[in-house]
Amino acid sequence: MHCDQIETSGQIVIVGAGVAGLSCALSLAPRPVILISATALGEESFGATMQADIAAAVSAGDSADSHAADMIAAGGGLVDEDAARALARDAAGRIEHLMRLGVTFDRDPRGGLATSRAAAHSARRILSVRGDFTGQAIVAALVAAVRATPSIQLMEGYVADTLLTDNGAVRGLQLRRTDENDAAPVLMAAPAVVLATGGIGRLFAATTNPDHANGIGLAIAARAGAVIADPEFVQFHPTAMTGQDPAPVVSESLRGAGAILVNRRGQRFMLPRHPLVDLAPRDTVARGIMAELTAGRGAFLDARDVLDEDVAERYPVLHRACIAAGLDPTRQPIPVAPAAHFHMGGIAVDGRGRSSIEGLWAAGEVAATGTDGANHIAGNALLSALVFADRIAEDLSGCSFARCPALHDSAFAAPPRAHAGPGERTLREIMTSQVGVIRDEDGLADAVTAIARLERDSLDPALRNMASTALLIATAAWSRRESRGAHCRVDCPAENPVFAQRTMTTLAAAREIADELAARPAPRLPRSLSA
Ligand SMILES: Cc1cc2nc3c(=O)[nH]c(=O)nc-3n(C[C@H](O)[C@H](O)[C@H](O)COP(=O)(O)OP(=O)(O)OC[C@H]3O[C@@H](n4cnc5c(N)ncnc54)[C@H](O)[C@@H]3O)c2cc1C
Repeated sequence: MHCDQIETSGQIVIVGAGVAGLSCALSLAPRPVILISATALGEESFGATMQADIAAAVSAGDSADSHAADMIAAGGGLVDEDAARALARDAAGRIEHLMRLGVTFDRDPRGGLATSRAAAHSARRILSVRGDFTGQAIVAALVAAVRATPSIQLMEGYVADTLLTDNGAVRGLQLRRTDENDAAPVLMAAPAVVLATGGIGRLFAATTNPDHANGIGLAIAARAGAVIADPEFVQFHPTAMTGQDPAPVVSESLRGAGAILVNRRGQRFMLPRHPLVDLAPRDTVARGIMAELTAGRGAFLDARDVLDEDVAERYPVLHRACIAAGLDPTRQPIPVAPAAHFHMGGIAVDGRGRSSIEGLWAAGEVAATGTDGANHIAGNALLSALVFADRIAEDLSGCSFARCPALHDSAFAAPPRAHAGPGERTLREIMTSQVGVIRDEDGLADAVTAIARLERDSLDPALRNMASTALLIATAAWSRRESRGAHCRVDCPAENPVFAQRTMTTLAAAREIADELAARPAPRLPRSLSA
């Protein structure tokens, strides 16, 4: 099959135009880079992500060491402490940089940066822009700066579906146009690639993540042989509103203001589960809600005593979601369920953002930097995306690359695109039901086998990539026979010191586990059923 080739002059290619990708392109200027964006720049729907707040130790009495200590405490013993300290130390500098780009963070009455507190932070260190508009303001400032930077060559309307390597080093990418389903792939030679493709929430049927957070970026690195770290650790937001895809987040701040979790009988099911009741850590609340849902009692956030006529002003995202669901939260409890929210795992990178593949760097949610361990604290995702994007640029400033030779059509190996549809739905349902908040050995083993089949048999490159990432998550969850941080195994409910280290795995290792599980004899049915 013939495929078009895009001529380049040996520029660095950045894949993904979210916070990490935009920021990396800017930090590299004036060095020429190509920035691949799935949509026209700035037009992508980041959905509710745009509410995102950012953490930085900038208030009086707070310190980078204290910020790092909070990461280490939350991470279930798996946080790389040096990485956490370095991230916290770089935070203030990134905030200053954003302000120079025109982001106007909220101010306190004395003119200093206004800070608020969030769960798992021991100090007030969450910064926002007009309350709810932080993420939106940051992306808008980055997009404007990118558009004004001549060294950044934009390629809009493309997604990457294969990372091309030769002898363990990056050679380029295979891209597809997003506006033409059956378009032939395009090859692009590149000596260095920065993956900044975001998270994996869309692998789950219940997720708060936008469509593009589909794990394909992680998969293309894994399929090229990159080491993947901690894939089993997925944070589930406990209170996502049910019935919509993506599921809108019902913010913790509502519970902070006095809204309560109840089941259909009006019972406050978190009372016996944790001293902090509804404000317990996210994992604990997610498990409490799952227990009610599994028992058929339902789970609701009753915010009737908290919300009044100004709901649209105070909680615009929730208000819009309730209108879409035909629900009045000032009169009715809001149905909630846990939903995949943030991936602690990703492409294993060092402090410079380098992966295990020569010529491949990763930043943002697709990367695993070691700062999250088994759990993640609020406001650190955007921070980490900005900090690591900048570190990659610094690292790349010391690298020069020869013009890379053109790629041969033989580099292209994928069969024609097939239709996604049911395969993707099946994958997402398996992930939510068997690799979700509550996991156990048998469910995970079944999931691994089914996902491996999808990965092997699918003709659709997107679905195959999604299945590769799902396989890494499910096999790592199967292998970790303990509960730690966000990873909860009902069959192994306690932490086990044997597993007190980060997972470092590859797709080849995941496939081996899948093969072993597929070869295991089917469980013997009880006599009564086998008759
Ligand atoms: C509802 C919600 C609320 C959140 N709240 C917070 C918060 O308060 N604070 C916080 O710090 N974090 C928060 N997060 C997490 C945070 O928003 C993300 O971790 C962060 O945006 C990730 O940035 P990124 O640049 O890595 O990826 P993204 O911003 O997701 O950008 C990824 C980009 O890559 C593109 N892409 C993906 N795959 C490909 C491909 N194969 N080829 C080409 N392009 C591709 C996408 O189209 C997109 O442009 C929240 C997330 C959600 C969903």
